[in-house]
Amino acid sequence: MYTYETLLAAITVEGGREVHNPATGELIGRVPTHTAADVDAAIDRAEAAQPAWAALSDEERVGYMNKIADAIEANAEALAELLSREQGKPLNGPNARFEVGGCVAWTRVPAGTPLPVEVVVDDGETYAEMHYRPLGVVGAITPWNWPMMIAIWQIIPSLRMGNTVVSKPSEYTTLSGLALNHILNTVLPAGVLETVAGAGDLGARLVESDKIAKIMFTGSTRTGKKIIEASSGNVKRLTLELGGNDAGIVLDDVDPKAIAEGLFWGAFINTGQTCAALKRLYVPDSIYDEVVNELAAFAAQMPMGQGLDEQNVLGPLQNEMQFNVVDRLVESAKASGARVVMGGNPDRDATGYFYPTTLIADIDPANELVTEEQFGPALPIIRYSDLDEAIRMANELEVGLGGSVWSSDRDRARAVAARVQAGTVWINSHGTINPFVPFGGAKQSGYGQEFGVAGLKAVAQPQVIQG
Ligand code: ADP
Repeated sequence: MYTYETLLAAITVEGGREVHNPATGELIGRVPTHTAADVDAAIDRAEAAQPAWAALSDEERVGYMNKIADAIEANAEALAELLSREQGKPLNGPNARFEVGGCVAWTRVPAGTPLPVEVVVDDGETYAEMHYRPLGVVGAITPWNWPMMIAIWQIIPSLRMGNTVVSKPSEYTTLSGLALNHILNTVLPAGVLETVAGAGDLGARLVESDKIAKIMFTGSTRTGKKIIEASSGNVKRLTLELGGNDAGIVLDDVDPKAIAEGLFWGAFINTGQTCAALKRLYVPDSIYDEVVNELAAFAAQMPMGQGLDEQNVLGPLQNEMQFNVVDRLVESAKASGARVVMGGNPDRDATGYFYPTTLIADIDPANELVTEEQFGPALPIIRYSDLDEAIRMANELEVGLGGSVWSSDRDRARAVAARVQAGTVWINSHGTINPFVPFGGAKQSGYGQEFGVAGLKAVAQPQVIQG
């Protein structure tokens, strides 16, 4: 069992690139920067390990998955502390400990999900079965917002289905990726999970390699498009979870006080740095002021600060680039005459990348804070008077990861949900993912699904045996 100190010592490298805490600026550790040759060698090791891994029975691989879940659980506090220091998210609230708990759940559930051979046709004349075979080596390219949980989403189903994996954490959260994979590798045979540390060029190397059969990618739509182009060499399979700008539509029959907490966490979980967070909220004129006031009252009680302080449930932005995005978009909203209900006044000279919890009301639906992804703690609240118009606005962007409808009438909410162009539409919550329920985007939010049975099939080669 590791402590934070022993875990850090196991992964940090002398003379490596410095990693700093985004809340305090403190030096946490040093990480390697691998070269293209290192990536090629990692791919070769994963390729060499794959046949023996695939030759294990499903039960044997499931046994490894369960041991991985045990190992994460045994080292949960050390992982959470490291994650909190590097990513910035607090230990408490739906943050670092919650993320490590998610890693356990998203390991146990795919391990416990059976994927039997399917008999597709058996009519006396034709007999056809569908099998799911390993693809080979999977490249897993991870972002910095939920660096451990998203890595698990990519790695565990891939391993379960008999693939080996080369994992590339984000350059912003390399320690978190190295630490997680280190724990996994205390259980796995050598070569089954390789890790490469570095920036986008290493990710591109994985995408270009003909030895990689599939890329699991979560990140920006811009990078996703580059991956699509670069993947054509060997007709690589892709699962792409790309950017979102999720709309929430409040209907006029809600109790504003009852939905305030759900709206808050839908938008501000992980300090807004979540792919499927609520990023623009449409509220009817008739209850607009009550919804804004209840949300503001709830938000005002949620402390923001450095992650290791147990009272905090919101943290800093992870990096300066993201701080600048949020700052630019809120300034654009302010300049347009939108009303600042709370926040919008960051201390730009402070050490940490803290941006205060910000609610912007009476905003032009065409303002950049609405149409661009802020990925931070600033929610625009748009007033509407006609529900059809609200649905039209929700659907007018190029992205469609998630969406939500808030109503006391479930049937009415479901009818509106059916008209929202998104991969998932939640009713009376937002972003409440579940390891049994498939998750994936519509439009330019990507393609392919993760989680559940669909997620296992997505990292396998379907093979029909007929006759
Ligand atoms: P974000 O804005 O969330 O950091 P990115 O799409 O830039 O989103 O990065 C997500 C992941 O993709 C990171 O691990 C990054 O290093 C990697 N990446 C960046 N550029 C490329 C590329 N051209 N090919 C493959 N991976 C890349």
